[in-house]
Amino acid sequence: MITFEESLEIVRTNAVLLPAERVPLAESLHRVLREQVVSDIDMPPFNKSAVDGYACRKEDSGEELTVIGTLAAGSPVALTVRKDQCVKIMTGAVMPGGADCVLMVEEVECTGEKKIRFKGTTPIPNICYKGEDVVAGDRLLSSGQRLTPKEIASLALAGYADPTVSRKPRVGILATGDEIVEPSVVPRLSQIRNSNSFQLIAHAQQFGCDVTYYGIARDSNEAIGKLIQQAKSENDLILLTGGVSAGELDLVPALLEKSGFRILFHGVSIQPGRPTVFGRSENKYVFGIPGNPVASFIVFETIVKELLAVMMGLAAYRKVAVCRLGKAIRRQKTRRLGWRPVKISGDGVAVPLDYHGTAHISAYANADGIVPIPVGISEVPEGSQVEVRLI
Ligand code: AMP
Ligand code: MG
Repeated sequence: MITFEESLEIVRTNAVLLPAERVPLAESLHRVLREQVVSDIDMPPFNKSAVDGYACRKEDSGEELTVIGTLAAGSPVALTVRKDQCVKIMTGAVMPGGADCVLMVEEVECTGEKKIRFKGTTPIPNICYKGEDVVAGDRLLSSGQRLTPKEIASLALAGYADPTVSRKPRVGILATGDEIVEPSVVPRLSQIRNSNSFQLIAHAQQFGCDVTYYGIARDSNEAIGKLIQQAKSENDLILLTGGVSAGELDLVPALLEKSGFRILFHGVSIQPGRPTVFGRSENKYVFGIPGNPVASFIVFETIVKELLAVMMGLAAYRKVAVCRLGKAIRRQKTRRLGWRPVKISGDGVAVPLDYHGTAHISAYANADGIVPIPVGISEVPEGSQVEVRLI
């Protein structure tokens, strides 16, 4: 059995970067950027009024001013203000020549036909200056960044209508087990609803993958072997749950080898998730993940993401929050790296959730993150500082 860190190292060194492609900006959500983003323009591109009001010279703000014209957002500039003059201006309009401030409309009174007066004391500029946010040539984003709404706004302002991103990893998901039934079925005695496949479908989609679901294979060499072959031919990665332990019907590892996968590890020192199998066949990969629902969640979160990140060229994806532990976490066996679900309270305390073991996936429904329990440790004391991995 290898350590958790060794499993990550094997996964990283085997992962091959997917090709890049261009996508329309409106379809770029969750993609990983594969180019540097450099602005071709200053932002703002011109001195811009930040408010609705009257543009004038600061030194004239104590006088009655004559309104010589109006500038709306989008109006091309052709106006210049001189002594004791002003221009009525809207938010976003180009500042007229000669003006160095905008008197807010709320602080101005009308004193006659085309005449106004400032009611305030000292005027402030109320101008967004050309290039104060971005100067043409500034790098806004780097290759390897995940595109979320905030990055997509920067792509748009810098003129990247079709950014270059990684092709989505194609992920095939299948469950195994004679006892497994789909969520629409009311289980009979001895049956278990398939939560793993739907957790993994959602997890992979959330991470930016194109997912195909292949259903449930019964515990037979024929059924599992057939679905592995089909999923292998159509995907970059197969995620398969169940049937990887040492039981008589744990057929998966041998079937993966028969389908042409080289097994790179089988067994990782983690709790849950120990019998996890990782295989490779050229640029195709497979994880055989134990069927216990918490194991399948933890293995995706902590190991599968590592593979996908390298395939997608994703620079960083793990987010942690440093919190104080609200209640001690204890365990009996200490030989493997463990994980416990926690909820982060408003005051930054990580409160361990009631958790009964590897079948208790519903404990995760309210979790904000997971806290590691290192090898050799049986207790993480109340009040200790913990790094919560956000999920
Ligand atoms: P296995 O890894 O096949 O030995 O399964 C371990 C445990 O996980 C058993 O109790 C299974 O019933 C359960 N299990 C297996 N597959 C799933 C699944 N797709 N969804 C929920 N539980 C499962
Ligand atoms: Mg099984």
